[in-house]
Amino acid sequence: MIDPCPMCEGSGLRLVERADGTRAAQECSCRAQKRAERLVEKARIPQRYAHCTLDDYVPNYSGNNRLLSAALMQARSFVKAYPFETSGNGLLLTGSIGVGKTHLAVGMLQALVTERGAKGLFFDYRDLLKQVQNSYNRSAGVTELEVLQPVFDAEVLVLDELGASKPTDWVWDTVAHILNTRYNDRRTTIITTNYANLPPLGGELSGPRAALREETLGDRIGERMRSRLQEMCVVVEMAGEDFRQRVKRASFA
Ligand code: ADP
Repeated sequence: MIDPCPMCEGSGLRLVERADGTRAAQECSCRAQKRAERLVEKARIPQRYAHCTLDDYVPNYSGNNRLLSAALMQARSFVKAYPFETSGNGLLLTGSIGVGKTHLAVGMLQALVTERGAKGLFFDYRDLLKQVQNSYNRSAGVTELEVLQPVFDAEVLVLDELGASKPTDWVWDTVAHILNTRYNDRRTTIITTNYANLPPLGGELSGPRAALREETLGDRIGERMRSRLQEMCVVVEMAGEDFRQRVKRASFA
C-alpha cells in the first residue's frame, strides 16, 4: 500500500493559517500533482515518448544549431503564453526524421497539461486514420464520430507525422474535416511532419518524375489544407542530424 501524503494524510486538504490568524482549508500539493498525472494519462502519450520533456530536449547535440535552439525557445514561449496570448493558434514543427519534432511536441503537451492545466491528446496521424477507417466496419463497435469526437474536442491536440499516410481523396477529406473543425472552434493543434512545408510542385507523382524530387506537405495533404495550416499554426523549421544516429555513433566512438 502507498503511504498517504505526510502533509495532508491523504485527505487532499491542509489547514493553513492566514495572516489574520484565522485558519482555512487549502488544496494540498499532492492532490494537484495527482490531477496533473491523471491529465497526462488521459493525453495518451505513447510509452516510447513518455520520457520526452522540454527540459531534456538537447538542441546542440551535434554542435551549435540555431534552428533547434530557436525551436526549443519557441516551444517554451508557447507554453508560457498559453492560452490567452496564443489565442487558439498552434505550432507546425517541420523537419527531417530524428531531429526531435515529436520529442518537442510531447514536451510541450506535457508542460501544457502539468503547468497550464490543459486537457491534451496525442494522436499519431496514421493510427488516427486507421481508427477512422476501421470504424466503417460494422463489427467495429464504434462509430466514426466516436473516434473523432475526442480529436475535435481536445483542448490541445498533438497530431504526429502529418502526411505520413498515402494521400487519397478519402485521406484528404478526413484531414480537412479534422483541421477545419479544430480551426473553426479555435482549438490549439500542434503538428509534426517530415514533409517540407511547400505547395505541391505540380503534376502527377509517378514514374521517373517521382524519383526526381521529394514530396511536399502540399502533395501529402492537399494544398488547401496546407494553407489552412498556415492560418492555424506558427511554422517552426527544424533541421539537423538524426539524433539517434548521432548518439549511436558517439557511443561507439
Ligand atoms: P522526429 O519526430 O523529428 O522524427 P523524434 O522526436 O521521434 O524525432 O526523436 C527520436 C528519438 O530521439 C526520441 O527518443 C527523442 O527523445 C530523441 N531525440 C531527438 N532529438 C532530441 C534532442 N534534440 N534532444 C533529446 N532527445 C532527442
